[in-house]
Amino acid sequence: MNDAFDETVKSCAFINGPAVKEFEEQFANYLGAEHALGVSSGTDALLAIFMSLGLEPGDEVLVTPFTFVASASSIVRAGLKPVFVDIDENSFHPSAEQYARAVGPKTKAILLVHLFGIPNDMDAITALCSDRNLLLVEDCAQSLGTEWNGQKVGTFGDVSAFSFFPAKNLGCFGDGGAIVTNNAELASTIRTVRSHGAPTKYNTQMVGGNFRLDTLQAAILKVLLPALPQWLTKRQENAAYYLKHLRPTATLSLPESIEGHSWNQFTLLSNRRDELKQHLDENGIGNAVYYPLPLHKQPLFMDEMLVLPNVEKLCNHALSIPIYPGLTEQEREFIVQTINSFEEQR
Ligand SMILES: *Cc1c(COP(=O)(O)O)cnc(C)c1O
Repeated sequence: MNDAFDETVKSCAFINGPAVKEFEEQFANYLGAEHALGVSSGTDALLAIFMSLGLEPGDEVLVTPFTFVASASSIVRAGLKPVFVDIDENSFHPSAEQYARAVGPKTKAILLVHLFGIPNDMDAITALCSDRNLLLVEDCAQSLGTEWNGQKVGTFGDVSAFSFFPAKNLGCFGDGGAIVTNNAELASTIRTVRSHGAPTKYNTQMVGGNFRLDTLQAAILKVLLPALPQWLTKRQENAAYYLKHLRPTATLSLPESIEGHSWNQFTLLSNRRDELKQHLDENGIGNAVYYPLPLHKQPLFMDEMLVLPNVEKLCNHALSIPIYPGLTEQEREFIVQTINSFEEQR
């Protein structure tokens, strides 16, 4: 790691240094994709994608409201309109049927979020997109390493976005992201958009930005990526431990162990979520509510008329507990005891 850092500093190739291309190739190989492009963050990955798809202002993109704000705000920043689709009652994602019902005359794309590391049903979703002639963008910020039928997510759609924010499955030392596609023409457009809309200097062809991945981050990611499979195994072991030892009750349900899940989050559903959260806080156990409010209930996207009952209910019940690879066996045990005893005390 220190070598990677020192080499970059010595070479002073801080922008577009050789490590960027090297990491891009390594990342594309890992996923089994043709093209990977390093970018400045997961948010910028999404923005650069929507700036590159050739859509018209006002075109609509279907998206879940149960996600991080960047999923939907990137659509808006590119002049497009997010249309929120309720999630399925028994999952954290909208189903293909729910997306299908939301398709209108202006719908051009689906932004599919593989939330918490859970794979969407890619058979149903890709069938829908080819039926209705919709572009499919995958938001894989939380799902690097997630698989559907043995194939990595991020390789099913037209193009996908990844984040290397430190809390994701692969984190760099700051902000970073990647865009992945098998479409050479789209990759070339995105490369242009990533660097001010100019394929070569003083040859500006379209509106772009500065969406580059720093050479330093790429050099660090090159060293870290080979460790990803180990970390994913750790996450899986932590999930298996919780699923074995946590006791579901009338008021507490555990997440489903879906094949290919990469467990970026382990999310409980509790009817007494706020009390349970307080109990964990009091015992010094890290926890987080993803997400306390769906996007259509936040001021920017507020739509008083829009009622999406499943997601609104889930926002009151979801609670994520620690699952990161560095979690120790003692910590796991303590977390399980603390939650089980809370449930018994009612
Ligand atoms: C983290 C995240 C992003 C944004 O990634 P950054 O690298 O933090 O900009 C986008 N979408 C989802 C679903 C995320 O979880």
